[in-house]
Amino acid sequence: MSATIIDGKAIAARVRAEVARDVEAFIRESGRPPGLATVLVGDDPASAVYVGGKQRACVEVGMVPFDRRLPADASFEQVAQELERLNDDRAVSGVLLQLPVPEHLDGPSLTGMISPDKDVDGLTPVNAGLLSLGRRGLRPATPSGVMVLLDDTGVALEGAEAVVVGRSNLFGKPMAQMLLERNATVTVCHSRTRDLREVCSRAEVLIVAVGRARIVQRDFVRPGAVVIDVGMNRLTPEEAGNKSGLVGDVDYAAVVDVASAITPVPGGVGPMTIALLLRNTLQAARYHAELESLLGDVDKDMV
Ligand code: NAP
Repeated sequence: MSATIIDGKAIAARVRAEVARDVEAFIRESGRPPGLATVLVGDDPASAVYVGGKQRACVEVGMVPFDRRLPADASFEQVAQELERLNDDRAVSGVLLQLPVPEHLDGPSLTGMISPDKDVDGLTPVNAGLLSLGRRGLRPATPSGVMVLLDDTGVALEGAEAVVVGRSNLFGKPMAQMLLERNATVTVCHSRTRDLREVCSRAEVLIVAVGRARIVQRDFVRPGAVVIDVGMNRLTPEEAGNKSGLVGDVDYAAVVDVASAITPVPGGVGPMTIALLLRNTLQAARYHAELESLLGDVDKDMV
């Protein structure tokens, strides 16, 4: 039997529509729109496309975009100053530094300079720590998007064997923590895992984020497993067998009749990332509005 195809495009459109509605209500209550600032260093074409997509999505849901671009040879201090300006700007609710940054810059140190309350990528030590403690904070968009897909598909996570392939700070680690929080039994694989096929084949929920085309083959997948493919690998359209030339880390055609549900690439996890980034920006804007109203009350009490 063929797997249910998890339609990330449709689910992401629904999340974006919800955010747009909530932004409208937020503007009515607070009197000003949330703002999302993107910082792009250099002219990497793929990064420019991602930033453009985030800027457009931001406008579509009624937020204000702040598009900051620095030359490829910008110094650490120049990027840091830009981030500090955005941290201090009350019109900006969320700030993200588009990664990767040029090689001469230290991406993690720069990301760490973003105020935790504006860190809509959820990558600062404070937000990573809050997630690891199971506390509320801003959480990375892609694993948050995967949680929405799993919930929407009705996957029962409690006690389930979940395997995450990849342990990056951006995806694998926060994904594992979110699954643990939902009481799944979580195994994390990486490049030193001895028998990847064997570990994957135990998974009831298999989530793959490696960045290697079709590394997960049919015999990696337990019959009936839910398979989430985070990978985005660019091949020629002929090699990929689709118009976009984009394939995931899972051999989709070989796995689609073994899994019970699966995300396609493109159209699975990818669209969720921007949707959850927008949701994070609204969460940050609400936090700032609450804080301002509390501080306003304190000021009144002091008069
Ligand atoms: P990354 O930082 O390069 O991490 C890749 C992970 O895969 C590492 O933990 C690495 O292990 C592991 N790995 C490499 N080769 C392996 C192998 N042969 N067997 C098992 N594990 C192996 O990448 P990332 O940022 O997490 O992204 C992973 C993929 O997801 C990429 O294709 C990226 O484009 C995609 N992605 C998509 C979205 C989206 O919005 N759709 C968002 C984020 C990422 P070590 O730690 O041992 O090196």
